Amino acid sequence: MRENGCIFCKIIAGEIPSQTIYEDDQFKVILDVAPATKGHALILPKDHYANLYELPEEKAVDAIKLAKRMMAVMTDKLKCDGFNLVQNNGEVAGQTVFHFHMHLIPRYKNDGEIL
Ligand code: 5GP
Ligand code: ZN
Repeated sequence: MRENGCIFCKIIAGEIPSQTIYEDDQFKVILDVAPATKGHALILPKDHYANLYELPEEKAVDAIKLAKRMMAVMTDKLKCDGFNLVQNNGEVAGQTVFHFHMHLIPRYKNDGEIL
């Protein structure tokens, strides 16, 4: 299920290029075009849901499971020291793309205040 005009639906369909670091039948994980730190990733369900209000519970569980797996892989590769897992719902909360996504932001010692 995709929504016309949604930039993440276009990325998922391959109509807009992105740096994909993981993909399966349910999710795509891409690098953020404006990274807060090196390796800043976005976890996107392939189906379009505007936000966490709309995301089915079982997909929310799968998204968190994937975040945990990505944290392990990225820690290995990037040698980061921690992560922020951030997820905005609604314009007032800072959401700018209305296709559910989780930010997975690797943190490094002394990388400063980014959030
Ligand atoms: P939000 O503010 O909705 O939580 O986060 C949206 C994120 O999507 C932002 O961090 C922004 O940099 C990223 N973003 C917006 N457009 C694109 C794009 O075309 N490609 C990629 N890779 N990231 C995007
Ligand atoms: Zn979408």
